[in-house]
Amino acid sequence: MIAFSANPLNRLSEKRADAAWIAERRRDGAILPVWRLQPFLTGGKEAPAAGFLGAELVEPLAAPAAPCVFLGMDGERACFALDISAAEDPAAPLAGLGQFRDLRAAAALLPAKDLAILGQARAMIDWHRRHGFCAKCGAPTVSAEAGYKRVCPSCQSEHFPRVDPAVIMLATHGDACLLGRNRKWVDFFSALAGFVEPGESIEETVRRELFEEANVRAGAVTYYASQPWPFPSQLMIGCFAQCESRELKLDPNELADAEWFTREKARALLAGGIEGRRGPMSFAIAHHLIREWAESQT
Ligand SMILES: [Zn+2]
Repeated sequence: MIAFSANPLNRLSEKRADAAWIAERRRDGAILPVWRLQPFLTGGKEAPAAGFLGAELVEPLAAPAAPCVFLGMDGERACFALDISAAEDPAAPLAGLGQFRDLRAAAALLPAKDLAILGQARAMIDWHRRHGFCAKCGAPTVSAEAGYKRVCPSCQSEHFPRVDPAVIMLATHGDACLLGRNRKWVDFFSALAGFVEPGESIEETVRRELFEEANVRAGAVTYYASQPWPFPSQLMIGCFAQCESRELKLDPNELADAEWFTREKARALLAGGIEGRRGPMSFAIAHHLIREWAESQT
């Protein structure tokens, strides 16, 4: 299973516009406090879990109109994420119950269903934090529909949570796949990736990015799987791309290094790294792409 997907909550989107129902559920629901984009986690450092708490503990920490998002129903229990970034020191009132942690840093340790819920919460709260003003007229916007919309009281524009599609592709040629190292990374090799631009199909983005970054021409592009990636709001679209040759010419603004890995070498990279090179963590879709190809025979 791909991390950050398979969210077990029932989003119950038909209830979002029922403000009275949402307010009532919020009073007796389970609330995840999110402080400066760090979700609250219970369960200690080694075995963390999503830290949903009662309203009486969390509500006093939030500013009056702080973003609150209805995440969905966990059985009979309504789950919300509440932004408590206004609190100077939220750890003190919640001492002994858990801690606020960076989601990416804790991702490898979290149960899959908790990770999916926390990803949804982080992406939604981040969207609210970055969209406080109307993109059309510049006036402050207000949250509506249980956090799934922001409305401009000045020009009546409606703004919806954004998802940015990005492709991540494993380029292959015979018994080799192409992995690159971004100039921001010291020893980390992964599949190449890039954002879909307006007017492009997924296949066209894959071919353009491979050509721009490594000067390789790709033929057949096949879809593998996708992954919500809440840092801040990408949808990673995983593909395989068959290349026509192995000749590389790297764009130094994008890639510091790139090389062709055989299946054997790719498996070793995922298993723990080789010769000063590290591969993507198991919660990243790049890991799944490389594994799927490296463990196949053709
Ligand atoms: Zn406006």
